[in-house]
Amino acid sequence: MRRSITVFPKLTDKEVSAIVETGKQYARAFNMASECLINNSSTSKRFLHKVQYERTKEECPSLPTGLIQCARDVAVEAVKNWNVKRTKLRQKHPKKAEMMKRPSMKDKCTMRYDVRTITLRGSQLTFSTCDKRVKTIITIPEFFRERYSPSDGWKLKGANIGINRKGRVFVNLIYECPDHIIEENKDGKIVGLDRGVYNIVTTSEGVHYGAKDVRRVKRKYNYVRSELQEKGTRSAKRRLKAISGCEKRFVHDQNHCISKKLANSDEDVFIYVLEDLSSMNMLRLKGKSNKTMRKWISNWSYSDLELKLTYKCQKNGIKVELVDARYTSRKCSVCKTIDKASRNGNRYTCRHCGSSMHADTNAAINIRDNYITRTQKSGQAAVDQPYGWGARGKPETEPLEKTLTSKPSGSS
Ligand SMILES: [Zn+2]
Repeated sequence: MRRSITVFPKLTDKEVSAIVETGKQYARAFNMASECLINNSSTSKRFLHKVQYERTKEECPSLPTGLIQCARDVAVEAVKNWNVKRTKLRQKHPKKAEMMKRPSMKDKCTMRYDVRTITLRGSQLTFSTCDKRVKTIITIPEFFRERYSPSDGWKLKGANIGINRKGRVFVNLIYECPDHIIEENKDGKIVGLDRGVYNIVTTSEGVHYGAKDVRRVKRKYNYVRSELQEKGTRSAKRRLKAISGCEKRFVHDQNHCISKKLANSDEDVFIYVLEDLSSMNMLRLKGKSNKTMRKWISNWSYSDLELKLTYKCQKNGIKVELVDARYTSRKCSVCKTIDKASRNGNRYTCRHCGSSMHADTNAAINIRDNYITRTQKSGQAAVDQPYGWGARGKPETEPLEKTLTSKPSGSS
């Protein structure tokens, strides 16, 4: 598990210019390395070192060896990712794949440091640059010092150093803790979570986390945005830029609050089950939902919530799993009959067995049960298997449950 803290050290002008110069040479080393890897279609660090090290040393004479190696490692990773992306793209758009931009770095880059090039002793931070090692005193807030203390197994793994948009030097300290140290809460419950437009999250236990505020704020910004866009003056554009930041921060804050509440829930939870996002996107692409729904889904920050929930839960030994979400909102959570007509607004009243509950709670229970059935079907190791939509965007298997086509007799 990795976590990071950002600090802004106080540096002299000379030190800052040394960092700027280091950044330039680092970027050059990176670009040389990635160019070399792509031209030789290799992703081997050893090969790169053999072929390129001397040349890099000549091109970037004052860049410390440790940083050349860091740039090399980053380049290898970037090229690997690039290859994966290109292979995927090639299947669909061969022309676009050929045109894909190669990984490159600009002069103003963020440099990765490892334990050899950065050290933190107490509050004294030293790291190498083109000039000489920069020595500076940083203050890490007490809160983080307690949270990432070495006694709990946390270690400094390295850092990212760069210059932000405002021209300040930032140091992004990366801490790592081995995963086995965190105890999993194996006796806990499995809880399904349904994400929606009217309630951001609903648990299968029936707890709602409302989206009223989010929708109110989004509506407000939508209105202001449309007004400003109509005006189109320079100051209107400036204002537009500013409010986009406000809205984003508000949504992030909401997601932080909800995921924190869920991760620190009093109830004994072992696994949170969420619906798979990719099937959600499919729904949107296929045009099955109406326009308003699509609009809400498209500027809905559900992936951000998932990300936040996952990392917050990890710390508390709670797992987050994904399942196929098809029919979860149409299926009765009691008798498992799929019937679209049973849902009426935010109420789900089964026409088959007569059970009635909040539609989101019903969906959350279905999500939980989907996960339980999946794990039972495939033994216990169902964790890493992809599920649901196949590569072609169609369901691989039809759902086993029967679908009601006509109203059953004997129920109201
Ligand atoms: Zn039912």
